[in-house]
Amino acid sequence: MASLEMKGPFPLTDNEVDRHVTRKSPGNYGLGDTREEGIFIVQYVGRSDDDVNTRLHDWTGTRYSKFKFSYASSPKEAFEKECRNYHDFGGTDQLDNKMHPDRPVGTNWKCPVCGN
Ligand SMILES: [Zn+2]
Repeated sequence: MASLEMKGPFPLTDNEVDRHVTRKSPGNYGLGDTREEGIFIVQYVGRSDDDVNTRLHDWTGTRYSKFKFSYASSPKEAFEKECRNYHDFGGTDQLDNKMHPDRPVGTNWKCPVCGN
């Protein structure tokens, strides 16, 4: 079964983001809701190339109630993990993501799954 390999889920509020995401670091996140039995249903996957905390604050107050996250050691690691998360969870067919993850401007990195 596919896994995001992230910590959480935590409530997607400004306080909870700051409580759990304490480092300024590239990273990845998944947004969604929990069903009964506490199962996290991921609906959107994303990344930040420099500060996953700030990026998550952009999402508070939206329709997603929970988040999971992980730090990445580099923007490239964050990009490649976002690609794997995106494909593992069904891409645009099943996620709210409208398009394949974009490589950072100025790089020629390729998706490790589909090569795009
Ligand atoms: Zn891909």
